[in-house]
Amino acid sequence: MDGHQSPETIEVETQILDVVNKFLVREVEPHVMALEHADEYPADMVEGMKEFGLFGSIIPEEYGGVGLNVTTYAKIVERVTESWMSLSGIFNSHLIMANAVMRFGTEEQKRTWLPKFATGDVRGGLALTEPNCGTDLQAIRTSAKRDGNEYVINGTKTWISNGIHGSCFALLVKTDTEIEPRHKGMSLFIAPKGEGFTASRKLEKLGYKGIDSAELVFEDYRLSADHLIGGTEGMGLKHAMGGLELGRINVAARGVGVAKRALDLAVAYAQQRETFGQPIAQHQSIQIKLADMATKLESSRHLTRAAAEALDAGERCDMEAGMAKLMATETALFNATESMRIHGAYGYSKEFEIERLYRDAPLLCIGEGTNELQRIIIARQLVARNPI
Ligand SMILES: Cc1cc2nc3c(=O)[nH]c(=O)nc-3n(C[C@H](O)[C@H](O)[C@H](O)COP(=O)(O)OP(=O)(O)OC[C@H]3O[C@@H](n4cnc5c(N)ncnc54)[C@H](O)[C@@H]3O)c2cc1C
Repeated sequence: MDGHQSPETIEVETQILDVVNKFLVREVEPHVMALEHADEYPADMVEGMKEFGLFGSIIPEEYGGVGLNVTTYAKIVERVTESWMSLSGIFNSHLIMANAVMRFGTEEQKRTWLPKFATGDVRGGLALTEPNCGTDLQAIRTSAKRDGNEYVINGTKTWISNGIHGSCFALLVKTDTEIEPRHKGMSLFIAPKGEGFTASRKLEKLGYKGIDSAELVFEDYRLSADHLIGGTEGMGLKHAMGGLELGRINVAARGVGVAKRALDLAVAYAQQRETFGQPIAQHQSIQIKLADMATKLESSRHLTRAAAEALDAGERCDMEAGMAKLMATETALFNATESMRIHGAYGYSKEFEIERLYRDAPLLCIGEGTNELQRIIIARQLVARNPI
């Protein structure tokens, strides 16, 4: 399981996971139900996460971060998600923004932005999706027109996580709306909130409560040219997609977290609830559900760890990350549904935790590339890696 990790790395990882676990048990779990049902932003928890460096967890130490590898990071995401998926969303998309700067930013951009991102004082996420497109990102309409040493940006983004409470976003725009192929006209900017940049409304959702999803509007919003990531126009889609392996492993880890929690709840409930004189865990149809849930969970965890270790080792892992994302998120949905059924009527009650997992799980199949898209990516890679 930890094949690529040195004993020192494993020791550091154990210590960090222990700190995270204590924080979740003491500061998070007692409050999740209330915050979830009030759809309230967990401001105190965010302060706690800032204190132990979660917002800088994968940012290198030389830029003020903790410098964790992706394998350890994925385990943190898994554990946080077991307690509350919304909490993981607050630092996950923030770190995807940071990752774009880490991988593709100029040295000056790294020195300017990464230390601020690492403390969590400047927080945000990734602004790609627009009202007319999500999967087909080359169809975006938000434009940035050069004006001297500045760009003037106009357009609308939607479904942006952390859109209201965040202050800075990696913003995908068209710097050339005519050019073919379309991706050559796309650029990614570091976009701090300012004049002309407003979070126009909070979107109401089925689940994933507490974290804000917002529509962002840009009206003659001006950015100096040094905010263009990497300094060269036309690289935006590559820069946005470059972080997607991390993004997919991150969503896979969330899937593992939701799937594990759903299974744990089901195993406990099945031993407490009795029908016809025995715990329902003794009935074969319930046993089949538990066995399927546990087996899918284990395979999801192995795929996610393998993809994370491949990314840490610098190996190509687009197909592996896609498989992990597909399997783990479908398992999250499967386990949440099966666990709810095992809970009977109580599974449908807002007083039981499983109801939240059931509402959270479907998002994982949509975000960071829908599972329909993952299957396309996996199949294309299979063919590309096995030419005849
Ligand atoms: C709670 C939440 C948070 C989000 N956070 C963010 C965020 O922080 N930043 C951000 O930029 N976006 C965010 N999103 C948006 C998310 O990334 C998109 O919803 C997702 O990429 C899908 O895009 P879409 O909704 O436009 O669906 P569409 O692209 O319109 O797809 C509709 C359906 O068609 C299918 N489909 C599309 N193309 C193909 C194809 N070629 N072949 C087969 N099937 C296809 C899709 O799989 C889907 O089933 C968030 C969404 C939600 C719900």
